[in-house]
Amino acid sequence: MKKETGKGEGPKKRRNPKMSQKGPNALWLLLALLVGGMFYLFWYNSVNRDVKTVSYSKFVSMVEEDKVEKITVQDNYVYGALRQNGLQFETHIMPTEKLWELLASHNVNVSVIPIDKPGWGATLLLLMMLSFLFFAVLFYFRQGQGGGGGASKIFNVGKSKARFFSPNTVNVTFKDVAGVDEAKDDLQDIIKFLKDPKKFGRLGAKIPKGVLLSGAPGNGKTLLAKAVAGEASCPFFSISGSDFVEVFVGVGASRVRDLFVQARKHSPCIVFIDEIDAVGRQRGVGLGGGNDEREQTLNQLLSEMDGFSTEHGSVIVLAATNRPDVLDNALLRPGRFDRIVEVPYPDLKSREKILQIHASRITLKPGLDLLRVARGTPGFSGADLENLVNESALSASKADKQFVEIGDFEQARDKLLLGAERKTVVLSEKDKIQTAYHESGHALVNVLLEDADLLHKVTIVPRGRSMGASWSFPEEDRHIESVDLMRAKIMIALGGLLAEKLVFDTQSTGAASDISHATKIARRMVCKYGMSKLGPIVFGNNTDHPYLGRDIMRHSADYSEDTARKIDAEISDIITSCYNSAEKLLVDNKGKLEILAKGLLEQETLQAKEVYHLLGMKLRKFHSLTDADDPSDELGDGEVRPIQAG
Ligand code: ADP
Ligand code: ZN
Repeated sequence: MKKETGKGEGPKKRRNPKMSQKGPNALWLLLALLVGGMFYLFWYNSVNRDVKTVSYSKFVSMVEEDKVEKITVQDNYVYGALRQNGLQFETHIMPTEKLWELLASHNVNVSVIPIDKPGWGATLLLLMMLSFLFFAVLFYFRQGQGGGGGASKIFNVGKSKARFFSPNTVNVTFKDVAGVDEAKDDLQDIIKFLKDPKKFGRLGAKIPKGVLLSGAPGNGKTLLAKAVAGEASCPFFSISGSDFVEVFVGVGASRVRDLFVQARKHSPCIVFIDEIDAVGRQRGVGLGGGNDEREQTLNQLLSEMDGFSTEHGSVIVLAATNRPDVLDNALLRPGRFDRIVEVPYPDLKSREKILQIHASRITLKPGLDLLRVARGTPGFSGADLENLVNESALSASKADKQFVEIGDFEQARDKLLLGAERKTVVLSEKDKIQTAYHESGHALVNVLLEDADLLHKVTIVPRGRSMGASWSFPEEDRHIESVDLMRAKIMIALGGLLAEKLVFDTQSTGAASDISHATKIARRMVCKYGMSKLGPIVFGNNTDHPYLGRDIMRHSADYSEDTARKIDAEISDIITSCYNSAEKLLVDNKGKLEILAKGLLEQETLQAKEVYHLLGMKLRKFHSLTDADDPSDELGDGEVRPIQAG
């Protein structure tokens, strides 16, 4: 059963739609024509030539009887015609002196075709077959790239695939990019430079070359880069790092060269390389050692960046990545990408502004407060928010509404976070009851713990892969977590299975993700944050990835077997003590658990304020903030940042 407390990994990260893909139709047509032509030739030859194949002895006897008028010999193949009716025949011979004498004595006209000079037909055929093979192989490789290559692409393998935007087609400026004020400030220099490179140089300022935009996908790196071009009204080349990576060695490098040749022609201009980590990874590492092709490409990029200076044209390279940590150091050296501009997840104010930008395209219910929507969407990227606006407009139009209301945003958000409601799934009565107790267990432990995040809502409506959910959000912008909070999270996670155990005296597989969630938190406490008897030591080079939002724990054993055992013991201690505390809480409050489960079975979804009301508990201060009278006011939450659900 059940997806858990906390927030999971946030909405799915949406990538930009791929560039237009030309179908491979042209190529297939060509192939079909070739094959068809070949078959036609064969067919034509075999049908229209009414040739009879005869045996050698029959041939000899025909010659002896003076029936044969002329023959053409090629090696030991003979093709001839009869005197009487011009009937054609073919055969194979043993070319001997005797045979020549025989032919001469019977006045047969003999012509010979040299062996090493096949007829033009054969040559043509060979050529056609070769080119067919060539195309087939090339096409196969292009397909293997997953890029859906078209015929047109094959003819410019070494050309860069960059998209070019002239100044008047770049219709984005800084006012289209909400928030990210620091990044905008950092980029002002670049804009000044692009506007007037000469003046910039005269004043002695250091000429910028490359800026690395670093941040999670969907937070507007591409948008920012384009806006810089828009602000400076200069041309903009856009390409993705993965476009350089090809199977053919040397292609990537020649694409880089081509790109910069073009860029210099249009300078001052911006070259934007998205996903630079695709080419810019640390050299000489990775599976199977180095990757010649990628290294060549990277070297070419580095030398292009070293090469251009003011005389060669003012080209600024903006690159984007969400993995600055894996980039080759050479890329970050002075004169290359020596400036790094962070493009973070938007905070409350920025979220409101981003929502305003995108909501200007839809019809909002008058008076709808987008700040409230912003409050309830911690951890959403700019792209997620754009998506949210679209989804809520969809939801409103499905319901034939005149305006988009706050309830539509609520629905859209839940859908993005937990997957769409699965109205078709019908839980058996027994499963439903068990789910209700399980979720009530999470929710009750949540509201009983002072240190926990604030309960948001609890539901037994199946969504995505989960049968129900109990959510909480932190109260305010949070950058650090206390031991108590982490313990509270573990207790809440265990609350579900404990409630099932307490009421039905049974366990179910539905608690699997709860258990893994709890274990991960405990492991982090021990191995990363020094929150155990083992003290403040990091065990294992577990890297919390800065942007992917999940642990990549590599257990390259930098500790001994013995330490491993101690770590396991500490983790087990934490889990056990949390388990016991949570169990005591639930046993002491079994009445409340019953009330909550019954409430859930009746209403399926309970908002936090309803939970507190049912339990006769005083609403925590925070919730009263959004406890307005507006019945459609469902989207209330504090300024929050996602907690890592792990
Ligand atoms: P990235 O390059 O970081 O992956 P994009 O620039 O492609 O992100 O962002 C995708 C879309 O999300 C943009 O086209 C824009 O509509 C929206 N978006 C992201 N960040 C912002 C922002 N700060 N202001 C307005 N829209 C944004
Ligand atoms: Zn659960």
